[in-house]
Amino acid sequence: MSLARIACRAQIGLDAPLVQVEVNLGSGLPMFCIVGLPEIVVKESKERVRAALLNSHFAFPAGRITVNLAPADLPKEGGRFDLPIALGILIASQQVKPCAQVWAGDAATEFYGELGLGGELRPTRGLLLAAAHASRHGHELIVPRASAHEALVAARTTVRAADHLLEVCAHVEGKEPLVPVAPLPAITSALLSERGVQGRCVSNGHEPPRAGGGTALDLCDVRGQLHAKRALVIAAAGEHSLLMVGPPGSGKSMLAQRLAGLLPPLTEPEALEVASIASVSACGFNASEFGQRPFRSPHHSASAPALVGGGCRARPGEISLAHRGVLFLDELPEFKKYVLEALREPLEAGVVSVSRAALQTQYPAAFQLIAAMNPCPCGRQGDPGGNCSCTPAEVQRYRSRISGPLLDRMDMHVEVPRVEVDEFNEAMDRGESSATAAARVVRARDIQLARQGACNARLADAHIDRVCAPDKEGRRILELSMKRLGFTARARQRILKLARTIADLGGEESITARHVSEAVTLRYLDRGPR
Ligand SMILES: [Zn+2]
Repeated sequence: MSLARIACRAQIGLDAPLVQVEVNLGSGLPMFCIVGLPEIVVKESKERVRAALLNSHFAFPAGRITVNLAPADLPKEGGRFDLPIALGILIASQQVKPCAQVWAGDAATEFYGELGLGGELRPTRGLLLAAAHASRHGHELIVPRASAHEALVAARTTVRAADHLLEVCAHVEGKEPLVPVAPLPAITSALLSERGVQGRCVSNGHEPPRAGGGTALDLCDVRGQLHAKRALVIAAAGEHSLLMVGPPGSGKSMLAQRLAGLLPPLTEPEALEVASIASVSACGFNASEFGQRPFRSPHHSASAPALVGGGCRARPGEISLAHRGVLFLDELPEFKKYVLEALREPLEAGVVSVSRAALQTQYPAAFQLIAAMNPCPCGRQGDPGGNCSCTPAEVQRYRSRISGPLLDRMDMHVEVPRVEVDEFNEAMDRGESSATAAARVVRARDIQLARQGACNARLADAHIDRVCAPDKEGRRILELSMKRLGFTARARQRILKLARTIADLGGEESITARHVSEAVTLRYLDRGPR
């Protein structure tokens, strides 16, 4: 056989199309050429494959070696194709003779792995995605051992792991078959639901690890702030976006970190989707986070590509890494205006288009937005202890740094004042725990899904009048507040949706004056600087 075909997969966004690595040996002057890969990647791959073959005591065939990665027009990142190329050369030059029992066909087994110069297999990014696609076609996978756990998360077919090229060769020849890797016992649906209500441990410096090594962030750890906590539960129940306004140190970050723990558990397909995005991102897949709602908190100096995705490799950005979880933007007015503008479209659509050179790809980005800001440039406005000297004009200018259209898309703005020392000591009643609140959130979401198939925050304007109509007294309160506080028509729609969520949280069918009044208190910035 002077022609060999080995299957592998490329990665484009969250797609993993099949790639056939074809190796042909011909007579003629010695030449090693790879087509279908970008030049720089080819050069690196060639050197690695050559060294790995020689250092594994194989002969590097003399003559013309042509490697074609088909289809040629698919963009491919190097690394993972090393193993299929090396194996193709060995089979085409008959140094490795596939055994019929293990070599069922050209594509029935897919091979992945970057080679070290000594022939060892290095971990390869994005294998979770490749494994999910391979499983759909019933293909088995052979992967580097260090990446096996990632492939296993999504694989529904056999996954075999190897540390070295020689182990893969022995397997293909049927001499020493690689044993299938056992599925991880840790990843079960029981774990999923447990993780879902626990939320994710955040290690971005906002909060030191809790004593006892526990990772769950509980709502009742936040003292006082009953109004803000209530807003957080409403946000979780209706998928509403929330802006918290308060001085530094009032606990805005602590509150934001607890939102993910209030959201319903991820379903298994959702968890796989979240894990696939992490798997192809710069930070990679982390098994200990599997099944948890993501919580992302990019710094305000983040660039637009870091936030929405892109760059030379078209990697997913923070908003996609926050898919099905929480995106927390602290110090919102400090973000660059054009960066915030880039958020608007994904916020509406739930997906983001990322382009790289000639290719455009999409990543999901259905995240829940939580933001925080100081009340004024110095941060002391409304603080009884501090003395704020900001003029109303300065406050206005500071607040206008948030783009109007983005502010328009915030369902709620609440004040988070600094908690007085007295209140701190008195706050023996810490309010409900995350677990209790999460149970109410699940019930409220079930009501919404049964009624309109989506959360209240996603209600289209056309449906608001039908779904969110308050009773007579509720209507009166709404019109009164509109007049007195000068709400815009858009704010009115937001208030109606919030009132609907508040009623759903209480399990109540009709929207009453009480629900409307509470919704009005959740629109702090509509009242202007004070
Ligand atoms: Zn001030």
